Amino acid sequence: MIAPMSVSERLAAVVTERLRFEEPLARYTTMRIGGPAEFLALANSTAEVVALVATARSAGIPWRVIGRGSNLLVSDRGVRGLVIRNASADLDFADMGGGRWHVRADAGASLARVAGECARRGLVGFAFAVAIPGTIGGAVAQNAGAHHREMVDVLVDVLCLDPRGDVAPLPVNVLELGYRTSRFKRHPREETVLTATIAVTLADLPAAEREIEEIRAWRAEHQPAEPSAGSIFANPPGDYAGRLIDAAGLKGHAIGGAQVSTRHANFVVNLGAATAADVKALIDLAQSEVQKRFGISLEREVELFGEWEPA
Ligand SMILES: Cc1cc2nc3c(=O)[nH]c(=O)nc-3n(C[C@H](O)[C@H](O)[C@H](O)COP(=O)(O)OP(=O)(O)OC[C@H]3O[C@@H](n4cnc5c(N)ncnc54)[C@H](O)[C@@H]3O)c2cc1C
Repeated sequence: MIAPMSVSERLAAVVTERLRFEEPLARYTTMRIGGPAEFLALANSTAEVVALVATARSAGIPWRVIGRGSNLLVSDRGVRGLVIRNASADLDFADMGGGRWHVRADAGASLARVAGECARRGLVGFAFAVAIPGTIGGAVAQNAGAHHREMVDVLVDVLCLDPRGDVAPLPVNVLELGYRTSRFKRHPREETVLTATIAVTLADLPAAEREIEEIRAWRAEHQPAEPSAGSIFANPPGDYAGRLIDAAGLKGHAIGGAQVSTRHANFVVNLGAATAADVKALIDLAQSEVQKRFGISLEREVELFGEWEPA
């Protein structure tokens, strides 16, 4: 009789040598922090993502899909089960007539690449995403935004993998996109974005390229260069989390290897050897100081990922 395949053999059958065991996730997050994933699968196509999720479901192990890990604080203890790092990257441009174009992008495509490819064709409307260091899938889950635009302004629909393993298109109006949130963020273990369609418009090439350069220059001037996960907190209504943290006297404050950025107080940066616990301690401190001094409860934008002690 042939012995049944183990979970790792079944996962390896999908991604071959791109399966890792107890792999530190620090290498796969922009914070450069994070303990090991029990299984890490590096998926290069939408078909691989679908097959990995099906394998995890039938094996009864927990699974999560990540993009560039640019909105994650992964715990020092790491993650049990399967982490699927999605690097599927196909792009398809369709001329819809009248100067309107649709870009269908795989969820693992980087925002910088999609925005850059649009600009190269003289297509405008997606430049806001060029300096957000994540993927299309992560940006949909987060309703990522910048420079007064966000994903909800450009999304047409997404192709979604549901908990039963079925794949179906979902129009933008059912995605529950709000300020840095969506149905994917609210129910992170249930559905996976496989592709997204984005609407852009044809303009002249120099204008499209100029917009990209201006946004890149603005970022270089205003954001810290050290590893981070972007804004730690969502801005409270009518105010800015960075201003409040600065006013609470925490700009530049460090715990272990983590520091509230001296350039932008809503960023916590990794000075080189920060642990997830260091960053979490700074997050908790900023939250409690702002609450104590201004009576404002800051909501975390960065996701705590992996195994954490209950709060
Ligand atoms: C320097 C810096 C600047 C930043 N600036 C901005 C900014 O201006 N605006 C902004 O909004 N954000 C910003 N961010 C945060 C971050 O880049 C965005 O939230 C980005 O959209 C996250 O994408 P990701 O691929 O890295 O997602 P990850 O961090 O890998 O994942 C984030 C969440 O999305 C989920 N997810 C990922 N892929 C999928 C998928 N295919 N289907 C379903 N769920 C999925 C994950 O499970 C997780 O819950 C910044 C971050 C950094 C480090």
